[in-house]
Amino acid sequence: MSESDFWQKQLQDAVTDPAELVRSLRLPEDAVSAEAARRYPVFVTRSYLRRMEPGNLNDPLLLQVLPREAELSEHADFCCDPLGELENPDQCPDVLQKYQGRVLLLTTDSCAVHCRFCFRRHFPKKHHSLEHVFTENRLRNPDMREVILSGGDPLMLTDRQLKKLFYYMEELPHVNRVRVHTRLPVMIPERVTEELLGLFQKFRQSAANRSAFLVLHVNHPNELAPEVLAAVGKMADSGMPVLSQTVLLKGINDNFATLFELFEKLVNNRAIPYYLHQLDRVAGASHFEVPMEQGLCLLRKLQDSLPGFAVPRYVQETAGMPGKVHLPRSGE
Ligand code: SF4
Repeated sequence: MSESDFWQKQLQDAVTDPAELVRSLRLPEDAVSAEAARRYPVFVTRSYLRRMEPGNLNDPLLLQVLPREAELSEHADFCCDPLGELENPDQCPDVLQKYQGRVLLLTTDSCAVHCRFCFRRHFPKKHHSLEHVFTENRLRNPDMREVILSGGDPLMLTDRQLKKLFYYMEELPHVNRVRVHTRLPVMIPERVTEELLGLFQKFRQSAANRSAFLVLHVNHPNELAPEVLAAVGKMADSGMPVLSQTVLLKGINDNFATLFELFEKLVNNRAIPYYLHQLDRVAGASHFEVPMEQGLCLLRKLQDSLPGFAVPRYVQETAGMPGKVHLPRSGE
């Protein structure tokens, strides 16, 4: 089986039945909320499932994918489009220009997991046409020096589709950087194929002062199984800078020991913690929210215990704001 067939087969084999999810972990059937699963279906790879502890209803990986009753409770401050992305009529929904000099491409709706706290969980599913991206004027604007590939998860595109996208970007002389935001190497480490690494390498070598970055979305040290770390190592060996981003989640990583272990494990494996995100206030995810004061307190403790490069920036995205709000670090 080719590398490409292998990771796609893992997607086809993913668990989508909530009853199977709890049964395979020897948990009671009523651990899952059928209504929450109906509103936002289960999707989790078997590789990720194998990293969960059977019989533990509080497993930090399980809590990220398990539909629970708590999702059904309504909260006035939590809405379906917390960042106002669907409300902006001036912007094509496939191409967002949220930041100065950077353009964000929504390349696909698909992901290799359905995170229960996803801020796009209520977005209508639509077909993202790459052809549309190629005719997008904002990409040709010489001020756009960085292209951020987002989604969904851009690594859900096949290597053939990505090849087309990268060829196109190579032809845009003003684009110096491509940044790929992805959770796929955590869900299916085999997604980091030789062909994929070759694409990034080719982009880097296509002109002077060009780089392709990968931002790995990872929330708990248990997600960093040896095969995931091997995938991170392959990216780093290929010359690709690897950064990470984490969402601060109640009951999952809202304590010093877990975050310390996560960030230390990342830097020890050549991934630099970049962002720690305050939860986006999306409807159905209020039970994941950690008070900001607690987040700041955790950050201060981490700063006292880790080198500066191992402590991410604590940030929050706000609808209508051109970029992230950086929450203060000590001494700032
Ligand atoms: S991987 Fe990211 S975009 Fe995909 S479901 Fe999870 S949080 Fe949402």
